[in-house]
Amino acid sequence: MFQRLRLQRAARRYADHDWPVVPGARLSGGRFDCDQIGCPTVTCHPAVPDWEREALLDPDRIADWWQRAGYGVLLATGHTFDVLEVAGPVGRRLAGEVRGPVAVAPPHRWMFLMRGGTDLLPPLTGNSAVVLHRAGSWIPAPPTPLPTGAVRWVTSPCSLDWEPADPATVQRTAARLLRAAMRWPDHKSRQVWHVNRTARRAPAE
Ligand SMILES: [Zn+2]
Repeated sequence: MFQRLRLQRAARRYADHDWPVVPGARLSGGRFDCDQIGCPTVTCHPAVPDWEREALLDPDRIADWWQRAGYGVLLATGHTFDVLEVAGPVGRRLAGEVRGPVAVAPPHRWMFLMRGGTDLLPPLTGNSAVVLHRAGSWIPAPPTPLPTGAVRWVTSPCSLDWEPADPATVQRTAARLLRAAMRWPDHKSRQVWHVNRTARRAPAE
């Protein structure tokens, strides 16, 4: 009950700042259940198939959804912002260097909200630790529960007047840190981290 209200309040707050929210499948017993009979997806995913059309700003519709159940709160990307997702220790370091809202899906998916409309810089393309979420994709937003813990803000948007970061700065810094990581003793930053199926269907740059 309390959890459902927290999720509803967060969804409402994002929408108040023109961030379209999408109800996500509910976490239950270590897997995610949506409302689709026979849905094979057990990882975090939208609760509705036509999720992009369902992306919500309307407070009444948000109230309806989250009165029904404790849906996750997903943010549709490519509207008010894009998201650069960087896995592993490079993501953690990047979070300390850039100015902009940053969320983390524990333990090691770091999500950087930045102004939209830029392509991935060449040094970042083809790097399995990096995903650019644009139109057609989404991210799980705080406080959505995952089996590994709740998504949380590292740098909250309200501390920055809800302004996404400068995309060129985020990407250049990410590229520099990824280059430096090649010299680190363990190459964990190069781990493959697949969880967001929708992102994998988004156009690859
Ligand atoms: Zn499903």
